[in-house]
Amino acid sequence: MDPVHDVLIIGGGIAGLSLASELADRRGSGAGIVLAETEPALAHHTSGRSAEQLIPSYGPEPVRELTAVTVAGLLDPRPVPPRPLAWPSRMVLVGTGAGLRAEAVPGMQELSRAALAELCPELACSPPEAVAGGLLDATSVRTDAAALVAWHRDRATAAGARILTGAPMTGAEPDAEGWRATAGGQRIRARQVVVAAGAWADEVAGRFGAAPLGLRPLRRTAALVRLARPLAPDHPMVVAAGSGWYYRRAGDGALVSPSEAVPSEPCDAQPVLEDVEDLVARLNAVTSLGATGIERAWTGLRTEAPDGVPVCGPDPDVPGLLWLAGQSGYGFQTSTAMARAAADLLLDGTVGPWCSRDTADALDPGRFRRGPGHPLPPLP
Ligand SMILES: Cc1cc2nc3c(=O)[nH]c(=O)nc-3n(C[C@H](O)[C@H](O)[C@H](O)COP(=O)(O)OP(=O)(O)OC[C@H]3O[C@@H](n4cnc5c(N)ncnc54)[C@H](O)[C@@H]3O)c2cc1C
Repeated sequence: MDPVHDVLIIGGGIAGLSLASELADRRGSGAGIVLAETEPALAHHTSGRSAEQLIPSYGPEPVRELTAVTVAGLLDPRPVPPRPLAWPSRMVLVGTGAGLRAEAVPGMQELSRAALAELCPELACSPPEAVAGGLLDATSVRTDAAALVAWHRDRATAAGARILTGAPMTGAEPDAEGWRATAGGQRIRARQVVVAAGAWADEVAGRFGAAPLGLRPLRRTAALVRLARPLAPDHPMVVAAGSGWYYRRAGDGALVSPSEAVPSEPCDAQPVLEDVEDLVARLNAVTSLGATGIERAWTGLRTEAPDGVPVCGPDPDVPGLLWLAGQSGYGFQTSTAMARAAADLLLDGTVGPWCSRDTADALDPGRFRRGPGHPLPPLP
């Protein structure tokens, strides 16, 4: 008879890996934890394509609460990693008065047009009808996505968790102990299953009999561009209020994104070069950055729940199935907190008390259907 694992996590992006590492740490052992990832490499899809910025003022209220928890955790990780996982890196929102007011949250510092031009000299020439001033988030941090992914992987595997790559989960059926799934040709039995499959989450959960939540994968492109004049090392990330295009320093050049949100099937998304070329033209029209060309462009899928708030909780109908999905453009900035919430549910059946009840309730997939989720059997 195949051994029964405690938990099978499907998906080796930042969501699945953060949970594997959190669970292994909390239980003092990774034994009984198995993670299956389709691709030969971890974080091949959206988690390998982000802008690596964690912005506490960005997103709806539950996201902001989860981001504050994640930022605190990544600035002071235990055990101390070989490379820093996060460091201070300010973000400034720029735009018109009405545009800024619509996105202002408490704690942001208002900047006049003159103060903004001092902070970001390349905006001094911007048309005042496009850039009237700014809102500074001095609590924003940058992360190193590759270092973070490696840290979670190593924390989980050092404690005895199994991470299978090149192992797509293709089938599942209930058995006496929970579930029997097939991943990469192997049969894996587990008491509980976590769907952390990014753009594929609805499809993967469907294999366990769950109804789709209506998650929408949305294409977003980023690119590295060459600049005539490099930005200062402490230059903040600049985000346009309303339209959302952004740029930030990346070596001698800049990382830029038009922040498009184009619906897509779950897939290995590829950039539409015209979108990036349009952005370079727009940046050169409203700033004196002097973008001279595109070095590399890539696209990922931000997968959004119908109400824009991530999902973490037991499926309302299917026993032993936990959703960890719908992270949209907040997957890194909420990763530690989302993993903590999922581990709370798996180990104790309830989230908290480190986050508010409102936020814990906002994550529950039961909000899209009737009533609270199916209780999960507690893990040993
Ligand atoms: C251009 C861009 C910029 C972004 N910038 C930021 C940012 O600055 N800050 C931030 O917080 N967020 C940002 N995001 C969002 C962030 O990258 C995502 O929210 C996050 O990566 C989602 O992680 P995930 O683990 O849920 O999904 P993924 O990384 O997509 O991982 C899901 C995994 O599940 C696997 N999988 C699917 N089906 C199966 C199956 N049947 N069996 C096994 N495995 C399966 C997939 O292969 C995939 O590896 C950005 C996104 C984009 C596109």
